[in-house]
Amino acid sequence: MNYSDGSNHYYIKRDDLLPFSFGGNKVRIAEQYFHDMKNKNCDCIIAYGNSRSNLCRVIANMSKSLKIPCFVISPSDDSGGHIETNNSRIVKALGAKMVYCNKKNISQTVKKVMDDCIQKGLNPYYIYGNIFGKGNEKVAVEAYATAYDEINEFESESGVTFDYIFHASGTGTTQAGLICGSLLYGDNKKIVGISVARNASDNKEIIKHNISEYMNGKVYREKDIYFEDKYVLGGYGNYNNEIINVINEMLSHDGISLDPTYTGKAFWGMTEYLKENSIGGKKILFIHTGGLPLFFDNINLI
Ligand SMILES: *Cc1c(COP(=O)(O)O)cnc(C)c1O
Repeated sequence: MNYSDGSNHYYIKRDDLLPFSFGGNKVRIAEQYFHDMKNKNCDCIIAYGNSRSNLCRVIANMSKSLKIPCFVISPSDDSGGHIETNNSRIVKALGAKMVYCNKKNISQTVKKVMDDCIQKGLNPYYIYGNIFGKGNEKVAVEAYATAYDEINEFESESGVTFDYIFHASGTGTTQAGLICGSLLYGDNKKIVGISVARNASDNKEIIKHNISEYMNGKVYREKDIYFEDKYVLGGYGNYNNEIINVINEMLSHDGISLDPTYTGKAFWGMTEYLKENSIGGKKILFIHTGGLPLFFDNINLI
């Protein structure tokens, strides 16, 4: 790529180009859910996510192509309303059944949707496990634990060894997977998740738990988890002018799309992190986790 800070060497893993439903990390994660769903003999799928969710889009798309009924439970935003985005429009266009809820009654809503499915003779699969959203972490972690093979393959074919991996980190599922991949290979790359919303103290705990689930109880120290919440800018979806500039630059120089909620925020956070920590002369891999519809949501800002 052409992006440069004059010192570090940048590479991008283009998971935004994965060939299904506009790509992104959620393609890998959704594949794991559908695989698991099949193993569990379920015949309808329930997703949960807000209107910007790339995961809900990919799940709605996979369900449609596999002819599996799909329910998308979506929380109202803080003002109580439901904004439409390109992702939520795609979800609807694909015929997923939308169920709106309040952030306070997610588990009751999940339970109700599951009970309704069972009443209809269906065997539902809730992607996050039980009604409290627990118990299925391992399935999704697999996605990036195995994607790590591709990073290793690239390194052995090219002779390049990355010092750092950066990416947008939300729930930390992708990050937990990458850390497991790194542990399984026994390398010592620094994997830095730039938080797009959550604070580090809570989410490091979750990442630690997810690593332990996947690695059969292995204890990974929280202090070795680099989940950076310094660049959250007060919350999910918040951005500043510098992020818009980064998005503009990336499009102009490399023809690559970033968005303000995930990849643009993470790329900007990465550049700040490298500056603040005086990191130079390193080989840096940025994982582009996708989100193309969100780029188009924000085209007027660029
Ligand atoms: C979901 C998402 C992330 C965050 O992934 P997690 O596994 O939840 O941390 C990052 N980037 C994009 C574009 C996403 O859609």
